[in-house]
Parts: sequence; C-alpha cells; structure tokens
Amino acid sequence: MEKILEVKNLHVSFKTYGGEVKAVRGVTFDLYKGETLAIVGESGCGKSVSAQSIMRLIPNPPGKITHGSILFKGMDLTAVKEPQMRNIRGADISMIFQDPMTALNPTITIGEQIIEGVLQHKQVTRQEAKKTALEMLDLVGIPNPVERLKHYPHQFSGGMRQRIVIAMALVCQPEVLIADEPTTALDVTIQAQILDLFKEIQSKTGVSIILITHDLGVVAQVADRVVVMYAGKIVEAGSRREIFYTPQHPYTKGLLNSVPRLDIEETELVPIGGSPPDLFSPPTGCPFTARCAYAMEVCDRKYPFKTRLSQEHHVDCWLQDERAIKMLASIK
Ligand code: SF4
Ligand code: MG
Repeated sequence: MEKILEVKNLHVSFKTYGGEVKAVRGVTFDLYKGETLAIVGESGCGKSVSAQSIMRLIPNPPGKITHGSILFKGMDLTAVKEPQMRNIRGADISMIFQDPMTALNPTITIGEQIIEGVLQHKQVTRQEAKKTALEMLDLVGIPNPVERLKHYPHQFSGGMRQRIVIAMALVCQPEVLIADEPTTALDVTIQAQILDLFKEIQSKTGVSIILITHDLGVVAQVADRVVVMYAGKIVEAGSRREIFYTPQHPYTKGLLNSVPRLDIEETELVPIGGSPPDLFSPPTGCPFTARCAYAMEVCDRKYPFKTRLSQEHHVDCWLQDERAIKMLASIK
C-alpha cells in the first residue's frame, strides 16, 4: 500500500512557567492511501498535538517540534517554510475540529465561505468555484444546495454545520483529512450519520483520514487501523481487529473494558483507576506503571522495547518481552 504520510520519532514540547511539558515523546506511524487511521487515548495523551504538528498548527512559542520528521509524499513538513505550508493546508492536508462553529464565520453565508476556500487554493473563476461548492454540499448530503448556499451558519443544525465544515475541508480535494473529535459535540444519531458520511466520502474520493478520538465506539465504526497513545507515546498499534480482539497492552485492555459492548451481555464496566503521569518530568520506565495491575519491577526502571506481534500489530510492554527478567538483572 502507498504511504501518504510518515511520522517518524516526533517529539513536541511546550514551555510553561512550570517547566517544559513533553507532550509527544517519540511518535512514529504511517498513513496509507485511502485508509482511516484512528488515534485514541485519554485527554492529554498527545493525540491532538500529534495531529496539529502534521498541520504545523502548534503555536510556537510556547510549543515546538523538537525532534523528528513528518514526511508527506516524501517532503518533510517540519522543514517547510510557512508560506508553502499555507498552500499545503487545506489543499493537500485538511483538518476539522470538534466544534463546527470555530471553523465557520457566523457573519458570512456558507456559500461565500466555501467559494472563498476554493479561490484561495485554485486558479478558477468564481463561477467554477460556485459549481464546486454546490457539488461539495451535495456530496455531504445538504438538501437543496442552491438555496442553502445563501444561508448563514446559524441557520443550520449542529449536524448540518459539521457536514458543511466537512464540505469546506474537502473542497480542494486534499489527500489527507485530519478529524479531531469530529462527532464529540453531536448526539448519537447524528454522530452515526457523520461517521457514515466519512466512509462514503472516502470510498468516493480515496482520501486518507486520521481520526482522533477518545471514543472507542467511533473507532469500531470507521477505523482500519488504530494507534493507542498514552503519556505522549504510542503504546500499541494494530489493525482494528487486532486492537479490539487481541489487545496486548494493559492500557488498551483497560480502555476496552471501560466502554459498553453490545456483543457481550451484562458486561461490567471498569474504569481505569488513577491518572496519567505528569509530563513535566515523564518517568524513565513505563508511564503506565502506577496504574497497571501487572506492573513488575523492571517496568518502573526501564521503558519497554517495542515488540512486534504481526505486520501491523506492535506493543510497548514488558509482559510481551522475554528479555524483561534479564533486563532487570542488568540494571540492578
Ligand atoms: Fe504494565 Fe509493565 Fe506493561 Fe507497563 S510495561 S503496561 S507497567 S506490565
Ligand atoms: Mg484533544
């Protein structure tokens, strides 16, 4: 499969009065053409920061990509100058957020906003841009697009507004769409409709999607592959099947046990106790040690190596590594 995006050993820090927060600590993943990759984890795990790094939307200061590379079709986005990045944003890589209102200008009709988006990136006439806008509104399922172009954001429901934002994000046919909690603000029925829309758009356009969410129900519905983040690191990754049916990291298992499942009757939901470590001075060992029921002595001392379980499935956990005991002896 063709790789569209390769994130390699990404580190991102934020300078604060209290010290430097190491929000992303060595994140590596690929995105393939036409797939949906979900990045999951609790708030503060570094999933949004990773996504914003791809778009180069980390405010500097206080934030900074301190190490690593982000290759988009071979070009390192961490080294691209801002004017070129402005062309890439929207045209090649687009992003949508949880709250559609932050992406829409309340004082301008949605037609004008979408047309403006086209004209910014493409050498086309206004008439052509309008035609594209109408096609996009139709693609995202806005009824009566000719009339609706003249309406303002407040004249749409929350679900419709998110559809419009998706239309705006797709209007220049980007190759990558990053969606950060795109359905969190919507009620469950509308959420399901928007997730279906993602799948439909993907099959029509071949866009690659990075979906950032804390909601495993959303992941189960749309993801091809899943990356699980904890305390700024990827602790497990695999195909959707591997993550849902044969999770190996105790944190992944904990996440799965904390959501209701329809396939098992009378499941007892067990929230993960405790909280993630402070990222001012991240632990040298496994960051999950304090919350892990299986923690061993080595866990606290040294961060586990990556164990590869299949082509896509890998995990950072000493339980999977036969070198754990030898390692402990060598650091004692
Ligand atoms: Fe638990 Fe140790 Fe595995 Fe970390 S490395 S998840 S503490 S068993
Ligand atoms: Mg977030």
